[in-house]
Amino acid sequence: MAIPKSGSKSPVIVEPPDTAAGPEAVKSVYRSLRDNSGLLSGAAALLKMNQAGGFDCPGCAWPEDTEHRKRLEFCENGARAFADEATRKRVTADFFAEHSISELAKKSGKWLNDQGRLTQPMVRKAGADHYVPITWFSAFELIARTLNQLDSPDQAAFYTSGRTSNEAAFLWQLFVRVYGTNNMPDCSNLCHESSGTALSAVIGSGKGTVRLSDFDKADAIFVLGQNPGSNHPRMLAALERARQNGARIVSVNPLNEPGTQNFRNPQTLDGWTGKGTALADLHVPVRVNGDVAFLKGLCKAMLEAEAERPGEVLDREFIRAHTNGFEDFAADIAGTSWESIEQGSGVGQETIRAAAAIAVAAENTICCWAMGLTQHINAVANIQEVINFLMLRGNLGRPGAGACPVRGHSNVQGDRTMGIWEKPDPEWLERLGKEFAFQPPTAHGCDTVDTLRAMADGRIKVLVAMGGNFAGATPDSAFVERALEQCSLTVQISTKLNRSHVVTGATAIILPVLGRTEIDRQPDGEQFVTVENSMGVVTASQGRRPPPGPYLKSEVRVVAELAEATVGTRSAIKWRALADDYHRIRDHIAKVVPGFSSFNDRLYDDGQIELPHAVRDKREFHTASGRAEFTVHDISPPAVPEGQYLMTTIRSHDQFNTTVYTDNDRYRGVSGSREVVFMNMADMAAAGLQAGDYVSLKSANGSVLSGFAVVPYRIPPGCVACYYPEANPLVPFAAVAAGSNTPAYKSVPVEISALKS
Ligand code: SF4
Repeated sequence: MAIPKSGSKSPVIVEPPDTAAGPEAVKSVYRSLRDNSGLLSGAAALLKMNQAGGFDCPGCAWPEDTEHRKRLEFCENGARAFADEATRKRVTADFFAEHSISELAKKSGKWLNDQGRLTQPMVRKAGADHYVPITWFSAFELIARTLNQLDSPDQAAFYTSGRTSNEAAFLWQLFVRVYGTNNMPDCSNLCHESSGTALSAVIGSGKGTVRLSDFDKADAIFVLGQNPGSNHPRMLAALERARQNGARIVSVNPLNEPGTQNFRNPQTLDGWTGKGTALADLHVPVRVNGDVAFLKGLCKAMLEAEAERPGEVLDREFIRAHTNGFEDFAADIAGTSWESIEQGSGVGQETIRAAAAIAVAAENTICCWAMGLTQHINAVANIQEVINFLMLRGNLGRPGAGACPVRGHSNVQGDRTMGIWEKPDPEWLERLGKEFAFQPPTAHGCDTVDTLRAMADGRIKVLVAMGGNFAGATPDSAFVERALEQCSLTVQISTKLNRSHVVTGATAIILPVLGRTEIDRQPDGEQFVTVENSMGVVTASQGRRPPPGPYLKSEVRVVAELAEATVGTRSAIKWRALADDYHRIRDHIAKVVPGFSSFNDRLYDDGQIELPHAVRDKREFHTASGRAEFTVHDISPPAVPEGQYLMTTIRSHDQFNTTVYTDNDRYRGVSGSREVVFMNMADMAAAGLQAGDYVSLKSANGSVLSGFAVVPYRIPPGCVACYYPEANPLVPFAAVAAGSNTPAYKSVPVEISALKS
């Protein structure tokens, strides 16, 4: 299946801005509402987003600031995620009659998404090239029959997107385990799995240790491998307030993003008329995958400062009382030369010492990170080096300090908490089995990468996906698409079209569901769902807009009816009754999931619940040793063949994960095309390339992307950047993070060749 060309025009390239948000953000929201939901109804709905009694933003997982909640509690990209879901466009049976699947497969992801909301169940019968309508009943029967005809439940996999609510996720994992497998790949496998793996091993919990209020108490905030201006924009308000409280900010990123340089808060007069708030005191332009070297340099500078002023730099009491492995760690750092640190990080000693000075001057330090640390072969090492750095001054388990992996999908953390994991704890399975009187499967299942491998070699034949874009979000697109096409059945439970609806198994089914923002009426009344943000706070979300059509079902209803059709006779679980009133699901959650006791009552009393966290709440480390672990890691960036570059994939300001809103990226000064490669100007000169020249990019998996335009950019030498998901074909399938199996989208050696005009 050919990789579609977006057919985009030549890019217009201008100097990127040095500030984020401001009036431009408001204009962008205006355009988005005007072009999608309609201005008035859209604006009315936005007043309910992230508000008590309203719906949770379908964007990222940055927490609501319930202490300083504003009347407009959303950012530009939250409004656009809303407007994208609230579009007035509809994809009907006529659309599918008009467009064959092979024709749709040539369309870009943006074009598919722009067609609008799915309105009724559709089926692609084996051998057919068009989707045709199917009733819900027949769809469930067909899926159930196919699943039950498999030789083993392990021949099926059940994918979960991070937008799935807690109630739908809990019922989903219950259905899949009653069906008999733990094949539960989910989108966190592609993003923060490395954080969970790294943190669990060294501090005993896979979740961040800070609250939003800690940002007001921090003296220093390090933002590593994250672009909050585009991917978690309301974080800028927290950084702004921290700055106003005197905190110092260090951004560690190959690209100096506007969102960490300066913030013009559109909710303030200064944000409209003034310069806004300068954020980062220091930008560290680390080379792609140079983070381990930089962080070891940071620790080396701090240990050297401690040697000069004993007892003034390190929190010896914390290290003595709460950690293991300090001596080996310190010996390794002492043995690591500044030369290898500078070479590995691409950053000079002076800059590293300046960052260390900020850390040493700070009583309380927070480290935030995202994909720039988690999507590398050595991602687990990246994150454990962050923890090494934090532990030197005891920055774990006290106010104003700690680890903050920032999740990019509204309920990705909640889904894992609800049991969406291919490696469930035995205790979890025991509680689940006891609560529902069945014997859950104990053999570990497949995560996303293992599922693809099993599809490719025929071990997995059926994929049922709850939301998301399995085909578009995964690496090595040619490999992935061949694997998907090998399946006998693929099912997409979705709101809108994407690549996964046009790259399918022999038989394919589309089941259209309600969005987060829409009224979810069930036999026992209107329902609300819950989601968990990056800081472990669970809030209620109540849809407030009319559904986009009469034939849609809620995610919970789809799971209940599919389960009844597939495993209804195998257990006493009353699936439909659970979907009639979600309180019943939450009552079960209260008995199975730690931290959710009296779930419904606490939601009514407080409107939210904060999940317990041993490190944050009690400075307890539930590791094998019962102590926090210092770890030792080599400086080992991927080998880049002579003459090649290290490519990192990035998101533009005008996209949310694989959903592309426009071909523009005003924060990087590019518009009109996404088929671009950001390149260091000296590297361009050395290669005889000019701005706008067309090149081809080739990677070790043999994939070639041709016709990408060169964009001069302030990126470290030897490094280039291309957009996700357009560059996914170049990411080799086998290039995954050790320990977490997360694809290494952020560091891929590529060969770049000029195209002769
Ligand atoms: S910061 Fe994230 S969760 Fe908050 S409004 Fe923006 S996109 Fe939505």
